[in-house]
Amino acid sequence: VRRPLVMGNWKMHGNLQENAALLQGLLQAGFSAEEARVAVCVPAPYLAQAQALLQGSAVHWGAQNLCREPVGAFTGEVSARMLADFACRYVLVGHSERRTLFGESDHDVLQKVGQALQAGLIPVICVGETLAQHDAGTTEAVIAAQLQPLLAGLAAADWTRVVVAYEPVWAIGTGKVATPEYAQKVHAFIRAQVAEEAAEAAQGLQILYGGSVKAENAAQLQAMLDIDGALVGGASLKADEFVKICRSFR
Ligand code: 13P
Repeated sequence: VRRPLVMGNWKMHGNLQENAALLQGLLQAGFSAEEARVAVCVPAPYLAQAQALLQGSAVHWGAQNLCREPVGAFTGEVSARMLADFACRYVLVGHSERRTLFGESDHDVLQKVGQALQAGLIPVICVGETLAQHDAGTTEAVIAAQLQPLLAGLAAADWTRVVVAYEPVWAIGTGKVATPEYAQKVHAFIRAQVAEEAAEAAQGLQILYGGSVKAENAAQLQAMLDIDGALVGGASLKADEFVKICRSFR
């Protein structure tokens, strides 16, 4: 009985005016407690806007990144406690764009997860293989390597306070969604890996699929046993489509 979770990742899109329209569109959907939990991860400068508009509603908000250090001389960085100040529920950690474009390592990811947990945020830990790794048949080895520092570094109880997102890099922004069967296999593998360190928490762990999720493929993905929700990029920028995706998960 894992409650579905559908999360939008706006990436570096939007402005005050467009965000207001998009968030109003989500509020008008009137999500209830019987539906999937819904959240948006907005660019840091718009956290105050998200908080002001979404406070008290069924839509939660979060950030897309955080600093691996708690406080100090780290020009340009945003700390976990700053995110908590704006009542973020979630923060993405280790998105593939952070890993490939900004050089984030598995060790950085572990530190960031620790910072998020300390500040009471729910880290959404992103893992996934590249096209070359997929084609070489090394998907499970890649995912295992990404999870390994976390499995070694986190306490079993921490796994009750995190979310994992499986995002095959070759499916991100490409329109090439993973087949539901392929995604299910990887999700089950992730849950089994976590179960080795935290058997009970693994059963409750929400594992989201990300990568070209659209209104038309959401229902097939949600039908899979170990797919507990979605992390949606491009399609989360259109209120109508994002609402449809949210309503596909139950
Ligand atoms: P798209 O949904 O645009 O493929 O992006 C997926 C993603 O990276 C979400 O974090």
